[in-house]
Amino acid sequence: MPDLEDVTFLLPGPVKLHPRVLRALSLPSMPHRSPEFTAALGHLTEGLKEVFGTFQDVTVLSGSGTAGMEAAVGSLVKKGDRVVALSNGKFGERMADISALHGDAVRVTAPWGQGFDLGEVERALKGGETKALTFVLNETSTGVMNQGKEIAWLAREHGALVIMDAVTAVGSVPVPVDEWGVDVCIVGSQKCLAAPPGLAFLSVSEEAYSRLHRFSYYLDLKKHIDKTRAGSTPFTPAVPLYLAATEAIRIALEEGLDARYERTRRMADATRAAATALGLELYAAEDVRSDTVTAIRYPDVPDAEKAIRGRMKDAHGVLVAGGQDEVKGRIFRIGHMANARPEELAGCFHALESCLIEAGHDFVPGAGTGALVRAFSRAPDAAVASGRSA
Ligand code: PLP
Repeated sequence: MPDLEDVTFLLPGPVKLHPRVLRALSLPSMPHRSPEFTAALGHLTEGLKEVFGTFQDVTVLSGSGTAGMEAAVGSLVKKGDRVVALSNGKFGERMADISALHGDAVRVTAPWGQGFDLGEVERALKGGETKALTFVLNETSTGVMNQGKEIAWLAREHGALVIMDAVTAVGSVPVPVDEWGVDVCIVGSQKCLAAPPGLAFLSVSEEAYSRLHRFSYYLDLKKHIDKTRAGSTPFTPAVPLYLAATEAIRIALEEGLDARYERTRRMADATRAAATALGLELYAAEDVRSDTVTAIRYPDVPDAEKAIRGRMKDAHGVLVAGGQDEVKGRIFRIGHMANARPEELAGCFHALESCLIEAGHDFVPGAGTGALVRAFSRAPDAAVASGRSA
């Protein structure tokens, strides 16, 4: 196992923490029933509103992204409520399972690696009075960015509440929650916002707020929002995580959201160009490729998972993710979200090329790293050059 203090860390979450965030984690104990905590919570929710692009309520749960998914779905749908649940990957499947647990789910599926057939989504919405539509914007398991705006608009057109998991999107790509008309947007702290794991952030529209019901003692979304409005939390919050998340969001806003989105987009373009230059195949269909995570098929070499991903970690200290469920052992995934930098990507591709040579894959050595250099050598636009928000 390489030294975790000194590795290249390019997972699609959790992501590497900035030293300022690490320092925030070690601040002295703070009582959560205090003006200091109320002020910190205010900074956190104001920052979140900015990255979510919302004027609606935003609340924070001490729990991972899945707690946020369940709080949202469970607080809005009950048995007898029709829910159209979109699934084209592991997390869409999770969202559909949660929808089926709390409501009457009608699943709309698409093959892993592909986007949804919007005609099929519309037919499902027309199939009966639909209380809510649930979907995952960025499907982390396959590197697919689903058609968020179109899906949300379709749902609204048919009178359904829109519950969107944007766990690996908000903070690294634009997700204008209010503009799209999303009723509940769910985000995990450990992904594009580069905070430690353990918090879920949710925005809730006025319409959704008026329809919340109590289904759980702890995950009762209305109770969380009401307390946030009063500058507090219903239960003891994970205070150090709140402070660290506040610092992480401050860092994101200092960079500027537009500059951050542009950096992420360029990282994604460069990753795709470099992988392709090595003769590797991208898993996601071309029209729906994610800018925060790239899924790459392993080449046909013996014991690819061990020879490539395993060896990148053990011999080079480069951590990337493997495939999950039905694509386990068939793909690996490079996360280029949050604060990931081109230099880290260069280290990653250097390691990848070395492992591919050892594994016997046929390609021109240097093709991937060369593609990266070319991708990053193009004149940056003004926003990126100055670090300002455009
Ligand atoms: N949704 C998406 C898109 C994810 O990528 C993840 C985690 O990877 C989750 C939900 C679940 O989040 P957590 O593991 O924080 O519960």
